[in-house]
Amino acid sequence: MEKIRTRYAPSPTGKMHVGNLRTALYEFLVAKHEGGDFMLRIEDTDQERFVEGAIDIINRTLEMTGLYHDEGPDKDGGVGPYVQSERVKTGIYMKYAKELIDKGEAYYCFCDKERLASLKTAVSEDGKTITVYDKHCLGLSKEEVEKNLAEGKPFVIRQNIPNEGTTTFKDELYGDITVDNSELDDMILIKSDGYPTYNFANVVDDHTMNITHVVRGNEYISSSPKYQRLYDAFGWKSPVYIHLPLITDENHKKLSKRSGHSSFEDLIDQGFISEAIVNYIALLGWSPEDNREIFSLDELIREFDYHRISKSPAVFDIQKLRWMNGEYLKAMDDDKFFEMAKPYLEEALPAGMDLKKVASKVKTRIEVFPDIAEQVDFLKAVPEYSTELYANKKNKIDAAGSLAVLTDVLPILEAQDDYSNDALYAKLLEYAESKGFKNGYVMWPVRIALSGKVMTPAGATEILELLGKEESVKRIKAAIEKLS
Ligand code: GLU
Repeated sequence: MEKIRTRYAPSPTGKMHVGNLRTALYEFLVAKHEGGDFMLRIEDTDQERFVEGAIDIINRTLEMTGLYHDEGPDKDGGVGPYVQSERVKTGIYMKYAKELIDKGEAYYCFCDKERLASLKTAVSEDGKTITVYDKHCLGLSKEEVEKNLAEGKPFVIRQNIPNEGTTTFKDELYGDITVDNSELDDMILIKSDGYPTYNFANVVDDHTMNITHVVRGNEYISSSPKYQRLYDAFGWKSPVYIHLPLITDENHKKLSKRSGHSSFEDLIDQGFISEAIVNYIALLGWSPEDNREIFSLDELIREFDYHRISKSPAVFDIQKLRWMNGEYLKAMDDDKFFEMAKPYLEEALPAGMDLKKVASKVKTRIEVFPDIAEQVDFLKAVPEYSTELYANKKNKIDAAGSLAVLTDVLPILEAQDDYSNDALYAKLLEYAESKGFKNGYVMWPVRIALSGKVMTPAGATEILELLGKEESVKRIKAAIEKLS
């Protein structure tokens, strides 16, 4: 069997969209599942869309997500260059375009802007307005073409698609797709600046770089018959095509920048970790045989069978991703968690507090790092709260009972020097027993007094320990005043 070779072929046009990352991930998994090679190819022939810094984003994202490539601009595998603008300089696209011209499958077109503007237009699948070329220049004689070229007249090279007949190509998920040739436009293969279009370059490159499987968004399905015609014209074997379903937002609209979480960078900025993002994105269009949801990248490599990719649109559900991220945080090694949580803790906590201790308290209670702030904000200052919080059915306590407990507890805390959780716990227990109270009857009002909240990531005596004596006493006094 031939070795599987896939490629991720991004155009450096900006951020790494969730859809792009899914394509990269699936390309990677298709190859790695079978022990194949994964290649990175930069498609920068559309100079107008080129964005400075976009290649860095691509490299950084692939590195952070663990999608290592076996070949690419920085790793020669013998079929380079791996950047299309560099491939242009080798003359490869022009050479193959001329071969097509010789075969009658392509032709020079010298039509100027004005003439093209007078032609009929159509709207392509991805919403762009395209000119339906009328084959005017196909009628030029050999001499006329030679003359124009000799005069240096600007030209493009177009694919020559007959008006009759049909073209069929095969997609692994959709099966055979057949279209009438009359629906296919004579697309430009080489632009007037001498650069190939994506439409031409992807075919030449995938073939000359020995790509066996192409994974890409299904917006490319409508162009694929034209690519198939190119493969056939050259007598090349076309790769296995896997076109992926659309990713939509919660409102079933195409996931766009407006959602605020459409790119990998947005998600990282929002405190998600890359392992969870990769895991979640893997499930946007693919599912295993069982209902399992948590997969490391290695597990995905083992389990990923592309035949199980779905054809229906995948909904990007940020709540689901939050849940998944929380699962990753819970399972994370404590030291690593602390390192990653540290900047958020430093921001949220008063100076001098034991960050490590707080980290261990919040680890199982947050979904993303920025959640830390609302979990621990009370440690900086007690928020505004209502004395109604002191009434609690489970602990059979009300505001009056709370006032009595706090009044008793204050001198105990003032006299206490050892503010470790254990010592404080023993002291408060001793007090509860002396009064015949249940634990909760004492801990409840203390916790409310210290935090102004009914739910905290730490228990009453843990909070006392974190705050230390001075601050604890101050807060208990304030609570007594509030209740009196
Ligand atoms: N350069 C194209 C893009 O970024 C790649 C499409 C493909 O994978 O063939 O959309």
